[in-house]
Amino acid sequence: MLALQGDRREHAAALAAAGAHPVMVRVPADLHPVEALVLPGGESTTISLLLDSSGLAPVLAERLAAGLPVLGTCAGMILLARDVVDGRPDQRSFGVIDMTVRRNGFGRQVDSFEAPVAVDGLDGGPVTAVFIRAPRVEAVGPGVEVLARWEGRPVLCRQGAAMAASFHPELSGDARLHRLFLDQVAS
Ligand code: GLN
Repeated sequence: MLALQGDRREHAAALAAAGAHPVMVRVPADLHPVEALVLPGGESTTISLLLDSSGLAPVLAERLAAGLPVLGTCAGMILLARDVVDGRPDQRSFGVIDMTVRRNGFGRQVDSFEAPVAVDGLDGGPVTAVFIRAPRVEAVGPGVEVLARWEGRPVLCRQGAAMAASFHPELSGDARLHRLFLDQVAS
């Protein structure tokens, strides 16, 4: 659990509910024992600055390039994208998923909303997806699986061991998406 900024407590609770043992990652040494990582929502520009000041950025880049399983939500999705539109020019994205995302792409007039979203491979009906100034996926490359869409747009994408959601799965009291991620880590 990257714990520099954002809604880490809710993610940690969902991970624990899904059977994992979350630890908070704040400095490079914290990352070494970690077998999978969640990049939470928050503010991608701030998280990017904190990744640099904490020294985590290069270590994280290396682990991600080596295939560390990762779930990025909202700001975390932005950090995983290959290209970011409407970001700060100096903000980091690790390019683990071949997709272009537009920061705050769902528009300010609908800053925040909930929607039922059906997820491929998830039993028990749609998840309640909470979108908060969410990134919008503008394009995905051929290697990217789209696991969920909302209004025709991809909102949950996977490439290899990396998964990214436009929304906040940790805010709906439903740990199924975290379980899906962890199942993929275990397999
Ligand atoms: N708009 C935020 C960003 O650019 C993301 C919002 C969120 O994580 N809830 O990072």
